Amino acid sequence: ESVVNRIAAGEVIQRPVSAVKELVENSLDAHSSSINVVVKDGGLKLIQVSDDGHGIRHDDLAILCERHTTSKLSTFEDLQSIKSMGFRGEALASMTYVAHVTVSTITKGQLHGYRVSYRDGVMEHEPKPCAAVKGTQIMVENLFYNMTARRKTLQNSANDFSNIEDLLKRFSIHHINVNFSLRKHGASGADLHTVGTSSRLDAIRSVYGVSVARTLIKIETSDNDPSSSIFKMNGFISDSNYVAKKITMVLFINDRLVECTALKRAIEIVYAATLPKASKPFIYMSIVLPPEHVDVNVHPTKREVSLLNQEVIIAKIQAVVESKLRNSNE
Ligand code: ADP
Ligand code: MG
Repeated sequence: ESVVNRIAAGEVIQRPVSAVKELVENSLDAHSSSINVVVKDGGLKLIQVSDDGHGIRHDDLAILCERHTTSKLSTFEDLQSIKSMGFRGEALASMTYVAHVTVSTITKGQLHGYRVSYRDGVMEHEPKPCAAVKGTQIMVENLFYNMTARRKTLQNSANDFSNIEDLLKRFSIHHINVNFSLRKHGASGADLHTVGTSSRLDAIRSVYGVSVARTLIKIETSDNDPSSSIFKMNGFISDSNYVAKKITMVLFINDRLVECTALKRAIEIVYAATLPKASKPFIYMSIVLPPEHVDVNVHPTKREVSLLNQEVIIAKIQAVVESKLRNSNE
């Protein structure tokens, strides 16, 4: 059974960056305003995510890492209308099958926190009282220690580190009120450090640089448009002054960081037709639509999504992008 669990877990957590994504999403779900990530060896030796969110209750620690244990849905109807990012209760459990996981947490009004380590879905010992200020710290050590082949294919830690940095940049330009930091274990300075702001453009400028930010055009769907009953979109897209080798598409649907290959391709097509010299754009886009219209189960890592009314939505977004690009180019 343990081998089956390990294989399943290896599907959910494919690389260090997948673990970071799950941990940071949990911190966001816990309403954190500050999320600090420390990694060692591109995350293979250590991933540590600390937040100042609402913490985990002592009584929940015993089953925290059991599969399908989640505090985020209680009925089937919830599943249809779930708004929080986590919904399957599989991430932490998976990590315990392929790494050593230690949780330290304190909830509001408590005098001290608790620390507990997990292996293969269960607590290794009773939660031990520990000093803690606010929120939760989760340490994932020796990722894939029991998956030799996986470890071998992931030796390039520089690559994994930059994937993690890229991920946190994406989160930080969407959750602009949250402070994020990323640091290599033992390093004195942070590789990424964002401070909360109220301006999306400021956030993009501080994370991706002025050379990107100065090329951006604001886009949004109109509330008067008939399509606004099925979705709303807003974001920033680069103009003809942004020239890059590949497209950067930062897409949030209902506040979840996702990929939608069909939408990305559709936007590239508009650029190729309108701004052929700048056909690899920078795109930040946030789409909101009824949660039951999003199918997030296309891929076990929950990144690739498909949408109800996908053709209509894509055509509408193409039209908005095209008209903005034409205006900017006049
Ligand atoms: P899911 O997010 O799908 O519920 P996870 O395996 O990611 O499942 O997490 C399991 C549960 O652990 C969550 O439902 C939540 O109750 C709790 N949890 C995990 N991380 C945190 C955190 N940083 N702060 C507060 N609660 C957390
Ligand atoms: Mg989760």
